[in-house]
Amino acid sequence: MTFATLGLIEPLQHALETLGYQTPTPVQAQAIPAVLAGRDLMAAAQTGTGKTAAFAVPLLQLLTMEGPKVAANSARALILCPTRELAEQVHASVAEYAQHLPLTTYAVYGGVSINPQMMKLRKGVDVLVATPGRLIDLFRQNALKLNQLQTLVLDEADRMLDLGFSEELANIYRMLPKKRQTLLFSATFSDEIRTLAGQMLNDPLSIEVSPRNVAANTVKQWVVPVDKKRKPELFVHLMRKGRWKQVLVFAKTRNGVDALVDKLQGLGINADGIHGDKPQATRQRALDRFKSSDVQILVATDVAARGLDIEDLPLVVNFDLPIVAEDYIHRIGRTGRAGNTGEAISLVCADEVNMLSAIEMLTRQTLTRKMEQDFEPEHRVPDTDASGQVVKKPKKPKKPKASGGGGKRNLGKWVDSGEVAPAEPSIKPVRKVPVFNTGPRKKK
Ligand code: AMP
Repeated sequence: MTFATLGLIEPLQHALETLGYQTPTPVQAQAIPAVLAGRDLMAAAQTGTGKTAAFAVPLLQLLTMEGPKVAANSARALILCPTRELAEQVHASVAEYAQHLPLTTYAVYGGVSINPQMMKLRKGVDVLVATPGRLIDLFRQNALKLNQLQTLVLDEADRMLDLGFSEELANIYRMLPKKRQTLLFSATFSDEIRTLAGQMLNDPLSIEVSPRNVAANTVKQWVVPVDKKRKPELFVHLMRKGRWKQVLVFAKTRNGVDALVDKLQGLGINADGIHGDKPQATRQRALDRFKSSDVQILVATDVAARGLDIEDLPLVVNFDLPIVAEDYIHRIGRTGRAGNTGEAISLVCADEVNMLSAIEMLTRQTLTRKMEQDFEPEHRVPDTDASGQVVKKPKKPKKPKASGGGGKRNLGKWVDSGEVAPAEPSIKPVRKVPVFNTGPRKKK
């Protein structure tokens, strides 16, 4: 199959050829004809499947072939994204796809001055990429009207809800013309997403390019059990041993990112960090330097790393497991893109066993564990499997020796050093459902 057989016009075929896209990916093969035929879409496609072109390319064709010229302060197509980085990246792709078309494109997001964005919108833009909060601000300040809107794309809709944007989405929904085409893309489909889809979509075509909630199978994944306090040391050890060249590392918190970057830089390692506390320009610079290989190790929180697309990124390391199990899929989707193979290594301590269990349940696989010599954890990570079971070994309390030596004291009980020390938060024995993906989270 070729892009020509999908019915794409020559300027688009030419742009895709220049980018080296030879054949459509599965999501593109299904989405492009449906969008060209005017259908609404509900697509389960994880990052790295070529989903951006799947919605952007046919949308650009429709805008080129039909419809009036864009009016002042208007947009003909709106692509909503969860983060600034993703908005930037989607916009960069859209601009590349549209390079031979008579269309204008632009991206707006928060964290930067609104005035230049208002100026730019004066003439109107054909395709506007936006994060929800800034879009609403622009609308309220009369810098943007949506009555000419013909296509709405919700990109990474699950992520938008995770980030607490459900209220913003409801507000945007009220600003939209009733007659429009809507395309919803999401890596995962929770009940909340289905409700959103029920409201926003009209007789959508459902597309599923990989089994629901299953991580990319081009990514080799494994877990290295380790004690929490030894994670930085293990990371450096694995990095040197594996001669890692370019690694994207995920840490749970902003402080965690800063601490690891400081540690690595202190060892003379070329590392940088991105998280929500850093100004947008600094984040973008760090991303650009990582993409151009000027930075070897980029440490990031989930939100900051959201839009990252680097060709052939070989390795992702989860320094901490994500609190929301779905984030694991997004994280490892940074590697193994567009058919390449990749590796995803997670450093897991006993505290994180419930998160590990939730991830295994969601991805329907038991992750292989590889013990690293000299880093065997004192606090054993309990066994887990894809059923959501956390197998806690019965404790055999060790008698304290009269001399006071021997066992390890922990929370007033004597435990073998090879056993699970009751960690914080306490380990619940059996979990049946992934508990880390409930409810919207606060915006970071
Ligand atoms: P996405 O899932 O949209 O983030 O795309 C992941 C990566 O695949 C991006 O680097 C795209 O440029 C690339 N890509 C998308 N479609 C194709 C294609 N048909 N052939 C080769 N690469 C592609």
